[in-house]
Amino acid sequence: MSLRIYGSLYIHNPIKLAFDLKSPYFLGIKNELILTELSYFMKDTVRVRFAPSPTGFLHIGGLRTALYNYLFARNHSGKFILRIEDTDQSRYVENAEQDIIESLEWSGIKIDEGPSNPGDFGPYRQSERKEIYRKYAEELIEKEIAYYAFDTTEELDFMRERLQKSGNPSPKYDAVTRQSMKNSLTLPQDEVEKLLGSGAEYVVRLKVPRRETIRFEDLIRGHVSFESKGLDDQVLLKSDGMPTYHLANVVDDHLMNITHVIRGEEWLSSTPKHILLYQAFGWEIPQMAHLPLIMSPSGGKLSKRNAESEGIPINTKDYNEQNYEPEALINFLAYLGWSPGDDSEIHSMDELCRLFTLDRVSKGGAVFNHKKLLWYNEHYLRDQPDRQLAARVKSISDKDVIKNSDDEYLSMVIGLVKERVSKVDEIIDMASFFFEDPDSYDEDSLKKWKDDSALLVSEYRSKIEKLPDDAFEAGTLKKLLEEVIHEKGVGFGKLMMPLRIAVTGQGFGPDLFTSMALIGKTSVLRRVDFALEKLN
Ligand code: GLU
Repeated sequence: MSLRIYGSLYIHNPIKLAFDLKSPYFLGIKNELILTELSYFMKDTVRVRFAPSPTGFLHIGGLRTALYNYLFARNHSGKFILRIEDTDQSRYVENAEQDIIESLEWSGIKIDEGPSNPGDFGPYRQSERKEIYRKYAEELIEKEIAYYAFDTTEELDFMRERLQKSGNPSPKYDAVTRQSMKNSLTLPQDEVEKLLGSGAEYVVRLKVPRRETIRFEDLIRGHVSFESKGLDDQVLLKSDGMPTYHLANVVDDHLMNITHVIRGEEWLSSTPKHILLYQAFGWEIPQMAHLPLIMSPSGGKLSKRNAESEGIPINTKDYNEQNYEPEALINFLAYLGWSPGDDSEIHSMDELCRLFTLDRVSKGGAVFNHKKLLWYNEHYLRDQPDRQLAARVKSISDKDVIKNSDDEYLSMVIGLVKERVSKVDEIIDMASFFFEDPDSYDEDSLKKWKDDSALLVSEYRSKIEKLPDDAFEAGTLKKLLEEVIHEKGVGFGKLMMPLRIAVTGQGFGPDLFTSMALIGKTSVLRRVDFALEKLN
């Protein structure tokens, strides 16, 4: 049990503290001394960790876990730690760690301690901590809470088959079966020593109690309990000498002074094993918080496969490559399973850090709504100064006319089109007519080029041709169009649509008169002439 006081301070054993404070020792001394003692009982810093296995690119669900850890840490002026859980060599993917670090950086999540900026609790890669886990596994064997198991794969298969035949659908290596297996609990001591000495293969298993209810309080799910009889005698150390996730995770959370374990719901069923380990070592159990699953819009957990079929990018790096705004993704993910409890929706990372609390994280799965993400993206896109966007557009465009364009002109163009796009790269497509004359016309829009279109456009052309350069501005251009439709007795669209096609090549886009003013008289006349010739 921990008690939070003074914002970021946690008393980890309040009962002991209360007892000590009443003791004669405390009663007779000065306040400063009490405070010194207090700080001994209090972990003065919240420490959380994001502990991905480098088995692939950083998944969007992993990013949300990292984010909630980060927000929680910042909310408590605590530390956010990155620990790479790379003990499963068979699933190791080269560059995955680099991708995790780069993805967190792109998202604006700052790592306080990790493999590339170690603090006092390193190494931060589990593969570099192998000897530590062995030592702790041996400690458990000494305490008779764990044991060596020498069973071969065949022997294990045989045990399972035998139990299945006798009506046990899910046979386990447990308190009952262990008694008939080849391990240091059943073999004579000297044989165990002989086997160990001869280099025989073995694993270390946890002696899971036969009938025990394992209970814990989850900060999100409340009271949770599991029956030990459903658990295997968990392997802690594998035959290659590497720890399993469970041993390494618990040992590291303890040694790294982790105060809160915040992770996905899929790890909830591992927690009873972890609790048994903490109890076996006699260590304090960190606070647990299991986050709700992220669901696909069509139901079920958001997996790589169903994300792909819904057009949802699954890895953080895809969002970077597809030019999403990181602030939008972060704001969106923060609300995927949490809300501050009012109807506000837009919050920067700093505000999220201030607002985030675990008690407002929901228990139920959160559905990934791609439209909502685009809505956030539009917001953060429009929020940026046109100049800044101009630099971005230049850096991602592969069109020379845009790359080499005048910054001021590009900024004005962006000011016109950014209200109409969801992502920054769409600006390039929408804006390209500002930089080059259309040489072809959008097929669908051409249906709006009617028999009288050429006549109306020519009429308008002759009016705007007479305008001096400095009068070639939106208001005048609009007034002249109104004159033409009035004279000819036709509706607005009759001239507006063909004119738009001639000038922009498309049937939609930003305000046409402002666009024409920006493009300039010479260029507009040239485009109109080309269209009149080509479309008649
Ligand atoms: N290595 C685990 C993972 O890949 C860590 C789970 C945990 O946070 O305990 O997510």
